[in-house]
Amino acid sequence: MKIAVTGATGFIGKELTQFFLEKGYEVVGISRTSNSTQQPAVPFITWEKLESQPTLLENVDAIVNLAGESIDQRWTKTAKERILGSRLTVAERLKHVVSQLGQKPKVLVNASGISIYGISETETFDENSPACITDFLASVVEKWEEAVDQIPIDRTVKLRIGVVLGNRGGAYPKMILPYKWGVGGRVGSGRQWLSWIHIEDMVRLIEFCINNENIEGPVNATAPNPVTNDQFGRTVAQILKRPHWFPVPAALMKLIFGELSVLLLEGQRVIPKKLLDHGFQFYYPTILDAVKDLYRCEREN
Ligand code: NDP
Repeated sequence: MKIAVTGATGFIGKELTQFFLEKGYEVVGISRTSNSTQQPAVPFITWEKLESQPTLLENVDAIVNLAGESIDQRWTKTAKERILGSRLTVAERLKHVVSQLGQKPKVLVNASGISIYGISETETFDENSPACITDFLASVVEKWEEAVDQIPIDRTVKLRIGVVLGNRGGAYPKMILPYKWGVGGRVGSGRQWLSWIHIEDMVRLIEFCINNENIEGPVNATAPNPVTNDQFGRTVAQILKRPHWFPVPAALMKLIFGELSVLLLEGQRVIPKKLLDHGFQFYYPTILDAVKDLYRCEREN
């Protein structure tokens, strides 16, 4: 099977590509740049080349679209434009390329986010929950999903991804840093939900969605046991054998991170109903399993 991956150079993309190669899939990356030293070590096509030669995707069975400007930056007006604009542009480019193909890929697995469900300390959300667009990120995700629906591929999976926990990128190394320094503690009230997923389950579930023809539409890419910020911190402290005593006030987070602080101060409890209904087996169903494994991997490397 041949799979095209956009954003293959990113945190999830690199791990996914490595996983696909180990499983014997043929992978081609689609990127803004192309050079022989680019990681991961797969052939890359630039967006410009693909637009002039759409047939380069002619024999591709699946597309995984992970590309988009990082949200991990201060959300100035121009940053917000890049965060939304990059995702809409990528969707538009894929639409343009795929519509010119005689033989189209059978499935598109596209990244999306759980912020589409809104913020709550009391509710639980699954794929049947309505969208609740109350902030910038939720509106990005809503427009992103709408744009992806325009790409003419028969089966589209919209992965509403939670916070992906891995040692080689994403939020986790930053989240545990205060614990390594001995000044870990809850952030804000500590009651905000963290719907997370271990990177290994993340890449496995992408393969599961590609191969399971009955799965389509929104799919929550989160572990079955979300935790509060306080529970997360206590688990990290327990495994790293460091204190959990230094609460960080919400006001300080807002001062340092501006609007981006919502990612740490607010959250939603999301359950991966569709994956569970289709029999997906999580290797890391609890936060204790995940943090233990990440700690072990870090010590071994
Ligand atoms: P990264 O930021 O690590 O990688 C994203 C990739 O997108 C980059 O490698 C880059 O590829 C491409 N990219 C970056 N900026 C732009 C731009 N302005 N225009 C077009 N392409 C761009 O992201 P992750 O791997 O962490 O996440 C993958 C996707 O999943 C993202 O869209 C993210 O929003 C979403 N997601 C991730 C979560 C997480 O916890 N990591 C949680 C929820 C959603 P190149 O340079 O090769 O073009």
